[in-house]
Amino acid sequence: MNEAATALAIEDWKRFTPLANKLPILFLDGTRLQHLSIECGGCSAHLEGECLRGEIREVSGDRYSIAGLAACQSCQAFTQFCLSSTGSAGSVHLEWQTAAGVLMSAGSVSWWRRLLSSFQ
Ligand SMILES: [Zn+2]
Repeated sequence: MNEAATALAIEDWKRFTPLANKLPILFLDGTRLQHLSIECGGCSAHLEGECLRGEIREVSGDRYSIAGLAACQSCQAFTQFCLSSTGSAGSVHLEWQTAAGVLMSAGSVSWWRRLLSSFQ
């Protein structure tokens, strides 16, 4: 991130609230997305809990967008993420955009999901 992008990220960080306060996402069939862990774009640390802030929006019936920032104390940097999430039959499906295209991940909600992330 350059200086201007970092300044914008800090403004966003102040505006956002912790994602942990907004989880779980409860899907129509009862599937829950309970935990989110974002991989730091700088050092690959797994960031979670208070390190994640952002917004969860319902996009359509059973589809949510999760967008925000992950703060890494060791890098002193933010990793920006934007995911979309659907749930059915006990699985949560996540999609996110990277330079290589749209990546998808599906997993049992009982697993601790670790997500790739990308600077955008
Ligand atoms: Zn880091």
